[in-house]
Amino acid sequence: MNFNQFNLDSRLLAGIAKAGYSQPTPIQEAAIPVALTGNDLIGTAQTGTGKTAAFVLPILHKLLNGPRNQTRALIVTPTRELAEQIYDNIRILGAGLRLRSATVNGGVGPAPQIKALRDGAEIIVACPGRLLDLIDQRHARLERVEVLVLDEADRMFDMGFLPDVCKLLKFVPA
Ligand code: AMP
Repeated sequence: MNFNQFNLDSRLLAGIAKAGYSQPTPIQEAAIPVALTGNDLIGTAQTGTGKTAAFVLPILHKLLNGPRNQTRALIVTPTRELAEQIYDNIRILGAGLRLRSATVNGGVGPAPQIKALRDGAEIIVACPGRLLDLIDQRHARLERVEVLVLDEADRMFDMGFLPDVCKLLKFVPA
């Protein structure tokens, strides 16, 4: 199989080439067609098997059409390191698409994160704790979110984030 067969927006193929991907990995082959239909899905694959791009590509495809300047995709992940990795993947695959993304996590000052949320960056990659803080402070606007990803959900729950994730779910559309 090759990436052309997914019928992804042609503007994404440049990012895929730039990332150096020639063929989809098994998780991408399985998940991307389902994600493109807009259905919910659960994917399991080991680290290093390309699962980030398996959700980033359908998100970019969806967001290319539709409104800008509002948060339309929220990716929740347990650690700052994972947030940065996902953000890097989005930057590479989404180069030139004029979609904005930002990370929202603890351990760094909140000011640029608040600005990104208030400016309506289209994609937010967040750790639960900091995002909830910024929601409490009324900086985050998640009522227009169309796609929600719980990345490494098992690990997130092992780390005790289940209550925080449940709280977050109240701020995104059903
Ligand atoms: P992940 O499992 O998402 O952490 O991805 C592991 C690594 O595989 C990252 O460096 C990705 O950029 C890379 N990768 C993802 N998809 C592909 C692909 N289809 N072909 C080659 N490398 C890929």
